[in-house]
Amino acid sequence: MLKTTLTVVLSLLASFAHAAATPSGEILTLPHKEVTLTNGVRVFMVKYPSPHVVAYELPVHVGSRNEVEEGKTGFAHFFEHLMFRGTKHLSGKAFGDLYTKLGCENNAWTSYDMTNYHGVVASDNLAKILEAEADRFINLEFSEKVLRDEAGAVLGEYNKDVAQPEFLLEEKLMATAFEKHPYSHTTMGYKDDVLKYTERYKDVWPFFRRYYRPSNVSIVLVGDVDFAKNLKDIETYFGAWKDPELAPSAIPVEPEQTSAREAQVKLDKPTQTRITVAYKVPAFTTKNTDVAALDLLAEMLFSVTSDFQKEFRFEKKWLDSVSASGNESVDPGIWTIGLRLSEAGEGKNAELIAAVERVIASVRDKQPDAERLAATKKRFRNAAITSWFGAPDSLADRIAIYTNFEHDVGVLNRMFERLGEVGPGTINEVAKRYLTDARKTTVTLSGTRGI
Ligand SMILES: [Zn+2]
Repeated sequence: MLKTTLTVVLSLLASFAHAAATPSGEILTLPHKEVTLTNGVRVFMVKYPSPHVVAYELPVHVGSRNEVEEGKTGFAHFFEHLMFRGTKHLSGKAFGDLYTKLGCENNAWTSYDMTNYHGVVASDNLAKILEAEADRFINLEFSEKVLRDEAGAVLGEYNKDVAQPEFLLEEKLMATAFEKHPYSHTTMGYKDDVLKYTERYKDVWPFFRRYYRPSNVSIVLVGDVDFAKNLKDIETYFGAWKDPELAPSAIPVEPEQTSAREAQVKLDKPTQTRITVAYKVPAFTTKNTDVAALDLLAEMLFSVTSDFQKEFRFEKKWLDSVSASGNESVDPGIWTIGLRLSEAGEGKNAELIAAVERVIASVRDKQPDAERLAATKKRFRNAAITSWFGAPDSLADRIAIYTNFEHDVGVLNRMFERLGEVGPGTINEVAKRYLTDARKTTVTLSGTRGI
């Protein structure tokens, strides 16, 4: 199954910033319906003009942020794999064959904040998919041998990831920026914990009951939906599911960061130098304009059209990649700038870090140009229209992600309302509040020589 790394998650989650509010303030104008079943399962359905096809997603409100127990990091991701390994009624193979027979490619991913099961299916076959999904969510069952096999697959995935410099940079960044909160480890968890998954057969079941519960699960349908019929099927298959006795574990709160942090990763092989500069920022919310302003800041200061990229990537050619992401996470998280140095830029670490800090200081010191901000908002709008609304599964993905933050589909419209409200003064205030030295973590990865 796919694993979503921090970079992917942040860029996925930040993409809302790629749109501005319509004149009415609404971005979701397609016919839609949302219902919460009596057991707590939330259902979001959107009619999208894709004849005969429905994209479905079952997001579960559990990610590596919930991994609070020692020795059990990476469990949300491990569990994502186990969800494909059989039920009381079907073996893992029979479960997979059923989807193939129905012409449905299904997959899943895990992030810091959620686990998401998804696929695209002919609308005539949707009821059968809902039945199969309910079966694994309610009746998951597999042997200890199956768990050991899957533990081997996850270890293989870890070993593949660990060969990537970006993964090592992410591990170090999260471990440096977070001391108490489980964001301190990646969704893959620590290797020592992954190595012990083979012994965890007894431990996975309490995890299943704690988090795979009706009040923690949503069903998103986008495409050729029939509100009444689809809802009736959902009630048939998921309606009798009850919340178990075990409650989700409390998540430790990260203390306020009060001074700048730095860390290095040294690789014993040649690789390009990479630098990440991150700032602690608040949790996702549409109650104020903070998150919208932070997303706009990332785009305005470091996107491909920014003065920073013009100078350091296109003119001096010190960098061959620049990424920037606003924060969108369930708990307070980070806002990051990522740099990858080209051959010409090797050794320019200090100059580049100073340049990033100068750019950020410029918006703390004064309000940005109003026209530039307006142009940034416009670019966001254009990009959002294509990335969100280009296909039913893209829209289903957005709904799954954002309803994981705020549990109603209105969150999409509120995000764009907040974005519309951001002015030059908001940008300046938000930069002063969050993009400060005391909230900063800088991590550098380098190899044995320049390239
Ligand atoms: Zn995986």
